[in-house]
Amino acid sequence: MTERALERLAWLSLVVGLSASLLHIIAGAGAVGSFIYALAIAGVIASTVVSALKNQLDRRILVGFLVITAAIIVGQIFSAASRSAAQHLAAEIAFFVVQSTLVGGLLLVAQRRIGRDPLSILADASILSIGAWLIVWIAILQPLFDTSNNEPYVVTITGLTFALSAVVLFLLATLLFGDSENSAVVWLATCAILASLCGDALWALHDAEVAELSLALRNAPYVLALFAASATLLHPGIRHLTAQGSYQAARPIAGRLVVVISGLVVPIAIFALTDAQDTRDRVVRTISVLVLAGVVLLRVAMAVRANADLQAQLIQRAQTDALTGLPNRSLMLEHVDTALRTAWRDGRQPTILFIDVDRFKNINDSLGHAAGDDVLIAVATRLRTILSTRCVVGRIAGDEFVVLDPQTSGPAEAMVLADRVLESFHEPLALRQGDVFVSASIGVSTYRPSVTNSADDLLRHADTAMYRAKESGRNCVAIFDESMLASVTQRLAVETALYRALERRELRLVHQPIIDVGLGEVIGFEALMRWDRDDGSSISPAEFIPIAEETGTIVPIGAWALLEALTHLSEWIAGGVCPRDATMSVNVSPRQLSDPNFVNVVSEALIRAHIPARQLWLEVTEGVMIAQPDQALDALTKLCDLGVRVAIDDFGTGYSSLSLLQKFPIHCLKIDRSFISGVADNADSRSLVRTIIAMCESMGLDMVAEGVESVRQLQVLGEMRCAKAQGYLISHPVPPESIASTVATINDLGPWPRTRRPG
Ligand code: C2E
Ligand code: MG
Ligand code: MG
Repeated sequence: MTERALERLAWLSLVVGLSASLLHIIAGAGAVGSFIYALAIAGVIASTVVSALKNQLDRRILVGFLVITAAIIVGQIFSAASRSAAQHLAAEIAFFVVQSTLVGGLLLVAQRRIGRDPLSILADASILSIGAWLIVWIAILQPLFDTSNNEPYVVTITGLTFALSAVVLFLLATLLFGDSENSAVVWLATCAILASLCGDALWALHDAEVAELSLALRNAPYVLALFAASATLLHPGIRHLTAQGSYQAARPIAGRLVVVISGLVVPIAIFALTDAQDTRDRVVRTISVLVLAGVVLLRVAMAVRANADLQAQLIQRAQTDALTGLPNRSLMLEHVDTALRTAWRDGRQPTILFIDVDRFKNINDSLGHAAGDDVLIAVATRLRTILSTRCVVGRIAGDEFVVLDPQTSGPAEAMVLADRVLESFHEPLALRQGDVFVSASIGVSTYRPSVTNSADDLLRHADTAMYRAKESGRNCVAIFDESMLASVTQRLAVETALYRALERRELRLVHQPIIDVGLGEVIGFEALMRWDRDDGSSISPAEFIPIAEETGTIVPIGAWALLEALTHLSEWIAGGVCPRDATMSVNVSPRQLSDPNFVNVVSEALIRAHIPARQLWLEVTEGVMIAQPDQALDALTKLCDLGVRVAIDDFGTGYSSLSLLQKFPIHCLKIDRSFISGVADNADSRSLVRTIIAMCESMGLDMVAEGVESVRQLQVLGEMRCAKAQGYLISHPVPPESIASTVATINDLGPWPRTRRPG
């Protein structure tokens, strides 16, 4: 039988159960009624067998079902209309067994499916069952003692059975209100249990002579319960009944609260509104109410405690860094605040060290994020071990740590502390991946009432000093002074203005002609950016380009410059200002090169300006090939495939690693101005330049001498067979509208007489 067929059979069983119980009421307790009842019991037995074979029924659940079925049969046999006291006792015991087995089974299911807070559920269950006991006592058992000729111990068992029914009801409720998603099989089981509890209630009302109910009516709910039990057994979902269900996103707390509160209020109300009949009644009531009060007190204490624990947990989580367990920014600020408030008392100057791990991004990129995390944990441990207990260590962001020493006597002691921390980085960090060396840049700020107004100030000043340490080449300490604030403010202003510069049309290009040294004719231009701010001031590219690079604004700005420069060239060619094959050199920053879209930007600019790719020179510095060799190689190769040519700018000032020339697709070296300026009268510079030129010639590379300022320099370069040159001697960078006249002037001069190549 397939799972689908079993599922259909399960739902069919439920529908048959509903019809059968109605039929049972109509037909009465006669032969038809007994037949239906027998059929229901047979159904449960058959379903148990099918389920054991097909649904791999959990053995404990199988046993539970067998016990319940057996107990129901016994109970039915002995609850015939005319029964002896012993038979009555046997029937009551049977029903007690049914309820206890149900409680056991539900606990088994609930234990796996409720999961996260079992104690509170047990406490709630106790409140509900004691409350139910009180109601049952007042409404059913006490009248039973008084009115019937039942033996007291039989009545006691009946009472216990009812108390258990209350627990069953509650466990069921907690199952339904618990964390787990409820499957169809849970609802089928719920239906079976509720129907049987309904039957119990009808029987009790009848027995207590509260209502005169026919046997058929009292047993009808049991018929439904038995068929629903069959449905539960047949449903294939029963295999997962005792498994942890998937958690519901939100716990329906409200339903549980309503059940527990009613379980508390209703019995208390009944207790208050009715009088005790005799001493036994008074004793039972008093004990029950006291126990109920005890459990409620316990429950309240548990709730208050759980709440306090939760709050402590939340505060802890909000104030510590999960990775290292160190205080986070907000807690550090509290510590600093406390230190500042008490500093005046003993004349101390609390100090903050702002520690940033150098090139942490490289560690993450090359060794992976897990290794990055390990480095941070190792740094945290290192800081904690080398610092005295009076210092507080915190991690306030990615690779930024803060040390607070609340008791330094002044800047001198602060520097000693900072040096100790810096030195501690000289030892390698032992990671799972092996030993790793990292260095740190440390900013120091010491409390001074004249400049430090708050904890935030002290932290910010240390941060500012840390940036200064980074700028000074990393792996060092910088101590905060007020002049740093001015430069930070200035830089921030530039950064903000730069974001808007492009759309405000504050940027423009100027062009410096590049000449063929032999012919003395302009053969190309270098585009250089200028920024004239709307307040009339100009900022030099040496200042704003690095900021644009750092903030990423260079990407859109650079793209604009590229298109603008090529458009200018296109106009000049069309206007006959320069030769058709004149070139345009555009400076490119590392950030642009690592932008995945850069190659597209270049090819689009070439297409839009109608300039052949080989007339575009991109100038890059050596640094980019050292820092991100793979990315740079990838981008440069793609650009070369387009036909674009690549020049190394400021050659000689960077790493000047000759292997770069082999590895990267490079077409030209631009010899840095610092060598050219010495070429006329410094023998060393001259021989260096001669060597570079020879190297270019033998490797088939083009060359441009940068920053030619004197006729003598140009003459020497000519003698050395340097192919191309640019510099103030030939022309300063000029705006596009002056290019025509500038080019004409240069070309009119013709070949520089004294630079003409000999022979
Ligand atoms: P660079 O690419 O090496 O540009 C040459 C710099 O030297 C220019 O400075 C130019 O004005 C200057 N120069 C040219 N001839 C002489 C000379 O005979 N004597 C002296 N003393 N200087 C001369 P500028 O325009 O201030 O640009 C500085 C740097 O800013 C450039 O160096 C380049 O690295 C960067 N830069 C300029 N424009 C751009 C751009 O559009 N994009 C990028 N990424 N960087 C740019
Ligand atoms: Mg350049
Ligand atoms: Mg240069």
